[in-house]
Amino acid sequence: MGRARGPPPGPAVWIGWPRRGHDRGGADVDGITSRTENVRDAYDAGTNERLPMLALVKVRAASGLELREVPQPAAGINDVLIRVRKAGICGTDLHIDAWDTWAAGTVKPPLVVGHEFVGEVVAVGANVSDFRPGDIVSGEGHVVCGRCRHCLAGRRHLCAHSIGLGVGRDGAFAEYVSLPMTNVWHHWPGIDEEVAAIFDPFGNAVHTALRFEVLGEDVLISGAGPIGLMATAVARHAGARHVVVSEPNAYRRNLAERMGASVVVDPLATDLADVQRRLGMVEGFDVVLEMSGNPAAIRTAIASMAHGGKLAQLGIPAQEVSLDLDAIVFKMLTVSGIYGREMYETWYKMSVMLQSGLDIRPAITHRFAFADHRAAFDTARSGDSGKVLLDWSL
Ligand code: NAD
Ligand code: ZN
Repeated sequence: MGRARGPPPGPAVWIGWPRRGHDRGGADVDGITSRTENVRDAYDAGTNERLPMLALVKVRAASGLELREVPQPAAGINDVLIRVRKAGICGTDLHIDAWDTWAAGTVKPPLVVGHEFVGEVVAVGANVSDFRPGDIVSGEGHVVCGRCRHCLAGRRHLCAHSIGLGVGRDGAFAEYVSLPMTNVWHHWPGIDEEVAAIFDPFGNAVHTALRFEVLGEDVLISGAGPIGLMATAVARHAGARHVVVSEPNAYRRNLAERMGASVVVDPLATDLADVQRRLGMVEGFDVVLEMSGNPAAIRTAIASMAHGGKLAQLGIPAQEVSLDLDAIVFKMLTVSGIYGREMYETWYKMSVMLQSGLDIRPAITHRFAFADHRAAFDTARSGDSGKVLLDWSL
């Protein structure tokens, strides 16, 4: 099957492919289901014919995404070809859609976007022995080099050369996605399909929340976007005493309560010191999970921390942030950046925690058919939502 060597299948979109009125999906997409069979047959026959599929594409260096017919992704001997069932919309996708400064400097159109998904294996390369058609899987969105010091030592999350699915290579807002077998995660039996679709951001939440010991500690979660919401449930599950969630958006504060927050706070209206007093906290927060990237929020978090406190910084500020280093020095704080997920310890912990009663489903608030992608993106951008899912089944 496919190419034996060479770079991973990069952005390879046939922009000239006839669109046949597929912009809105729906009735026009009749017949695509049967193509799933054709795809399998084509791979089985070794023709590696790249049949057309529907995908959400950043066509050119400007704002907007278009639903297009493009060729299925190429898949080599070490790759797994997956029929996408459900996908989650991430802030990264919103940035690429809006074509902001970060996106313009990072993404090279044409590109199929999206990286959070669950799907079914339809074909595997000749070297792949532990995935089979029919397996339910998700993908680790960071495709690492495999050759650098950290990769060779098994610290793949520290690879400095990782390529992002749906950012540096064609992604998962499509009928099919192809990934190296080392990036594919088998879901354990009993994992809810919608939860499986968001293992990528759930992994961000778990990686951050478990970075430091939270058992018996007082935890501040700064920002209750989808990741902060999931981290709230994880911190609770992992045995924190108080989990205080700071979030200006009322819709998200309500969700945070449902996820198990002890107290939710509007940082624009309430001082964290008052909350600490009310809870009988005398030392400050032991652990902060910073999940907003907002400069004021980061400063407030540092000011509210106990001596010896630990800050896990997941939130990505839009620009440089000035911080009170004196507080970091004199309180002897530990600050750790968090990027992605540990491969695959975070994935293991996610699965185990779900089996032992962790429920992150309330963080999923909206579902759309892929043809309604514009409404889905608007909902995700509005802020009055948790995780927004796109259904890619036809
Ligand atoms: P999001 O943008 O939906 O959530 C951020 C939340 O922070 C929002 O609900 C917003 O209202 C809130 N916020 C804004 N100002 C605040 C303030 N002053 N105090 C408290 N909260 C405030 O994003 P998300 O998808 O949940 O992701 C969380 C953060 O993590 C984002 O910054 C995102 O860019 C980043 N991220 C990092 C990684 C990584 O690997 N490091 C991966 C994914 C996302
Ligand atoms: Zn590497």
